[in-house]
Amino acid sequence: MAKKAFAFVSCFCLLFCVFPVEAGGEDDAILGIRPEALRAHVRFLADDLLEGRGTATRGHDIASKYVASQFEAMGLEPGNAGSFFQPIRFRSAEIVAEQTELKLLRGGSAEPLVWGEDFICEPDSLRTALALTGRVVFVGYGIAAPDLGIDDYQGLDVRGKVVAVLPGAPAKLLSADRDRFSSGLAPQDAAKGRGAIGGIALWTPEADKTIIPFARLAENYREPSMAWLDDDGVPNGDIPWAPPILAILSESGTKKLLAGAELSKDPAQTIPNGDSLRAELPVSVSIRSVSKHTESTSQNVVAILRGSDPKLRNEYVVYTAHLDHLGIGKPVNGDAIYNGAIDDAAGVAAVIEIARAFQSMKHKPRRSIIFIATTGEEKGLLGSDYYARHPTVPQSQIVADINIDSIGLLYDFRDVVVFGSEHSSLGTVVDRIAARMGLEVSPDDHPERPFFYLSDQYSFVRIGVPSIFPVFGNKPVDPKVDGAKLRRERAQRYHQPNDDMSQPMDFEAGAKNSRFDFLLGYTVAQDENRPVWKDGDFFGKTFGKGK
Ligand SMILES: [Zn+2]
Repeated sequence: MAKKAFAFVSCFCLLFCVFPVEAGGEDDAILGIRPEALRAHVRFLADDLLEGRGTATRGHDIASKYVASQFEAMGLEPGNAGSFFQPIRFRSAEIVAEQTELKLLRGGSAEPLVWGEDFICEPDSLRTALALTGRVVFVGYGIAAPDLGIDDYQGLDVRGKVVAVLPGAPAKLLSADRDRFSSGLAPQDAAKGRGAIGGIALWTPEADKTIIPFARLAENYREPSMAWLDDDGVPNGDIPWAPPILAILSESGTKKLLAGAELSKDPAQTIPNGDSLRAELPVSVSIRSVSKHTESTSQNVVAILRGSDPKLRNEYVVYTAHLDHLGIGKPVNGDAIYNGAIDDAAGVAAVIEIARAFQSMKHKPRRSIIFIATTGEEKGLLGSDYYARHPTVPQSQIVADINIDSIGLLYDFRDVVVFGSEHSSLGTVVDRIAARMGLEVSPDDHPERPFFYLSDQYSFVRIGVPSIFPVFGNKPVDPKVDGAKLRRERAQRYHQPNDDMSQPMDFEAGAKNSRFDFLLGYTVAQDENRPVWKDGDFFGKTFGKGK
């Protein structure tokens, strides 16, 4: 691996010889991003003493002081009115399963479903108790997109009723369109606009396989959910997967719901051509859910590096990485600390070293750069959402977010995947930097897992800011390295206590990944024009200026 790093360095040396490069420029700066510095940050942040950095825990507080100290030591400006911290009030809501029930009402009789086996309910941060009854209408994926000729509501009246939807999006939609529907926004908006009083999601075998197994979902929903509170104490009700999805039915729950209806056993199978199978079902649901509320505080860490161009320095390129992880949880092999070394101590380490690289430059970038170690990401992108809606600089002057959620630590890679790059002019920047570093840009080969809305960049997308989430690709530089095997092993550590320092990590590759991320932000900061959404892009149209 050391040899690879040498090859990388010497390729840049070659560049210096051919094109004289001014000292103190970006090529010098990226060499300051050192693997051992990344490793040291990860080692500290993923230590058991920090207890998994759960949002609003002591471990997370210590981690946030560590990051602020790093920013202060390198001479960055505090990012929030003289402070490196942006405190946020949170409400936790925990479902009281014993008092929560879901019944199917049919022909005068009531069939109760079993919590955890047949159904689960999301904790409700708005209300401590919620009860409603409604006739069920199965609307497939619940998509209404006239531009694509899809209207799952056609011929159905959902007013005052509960819609039953499939999670995600049908396979026939292309990746870009799936991004838009899998965000959860489209079905909910469509259902609300049509007067539905709530929704239930039907967790199909397909969703079990491609999104998350129902059993794990049920475990997750036993955990408290969190919402940030505004100055009036109102929780952010605007998270994409919040109610009106009231309950999620497992395969067994779905079977009970569909008993007697003219739908096939797997409702997902009915969708591609089965328009006639969307239907009002001969059943009503009665849902009563009870949630317990508590309050806490946690903070984003924010630092600013002032740009050098008198005109452009009032515009800001944002880097985000989430400092929180899952905290202490269910023990696995006797280990209850979910250290989150790769997810996302590594991303925070990258942001710290990227900040140092910017700070080391003799000629600072033209635009200003904001570095944020967010809180509450694992709780639903909460810290980034709070920042996006309460930014410490004028919101309209944020030009891009580059989100780093894990870096390439598995192997030296020769390609990158950049979620979101197809939606805006940031894609051009990605292509330029990849070419400059001799990297290929690979397409997202898991369109069924819409990462574009699953990490902090999506909070910025939702305020109209073109954003990207770059990750390393599937192609190892060394053909002898079995990348697929390493990625499978990594997947088994994802959100488990053994995402810790015991796993093999190639920090040379991590440094290369961080240098790529640095050059993306630097290029955006230097460009005369700020990034723009592509013409007609769904996210640009929905959230951007043109909306
Ligand atoms: Zn993460």
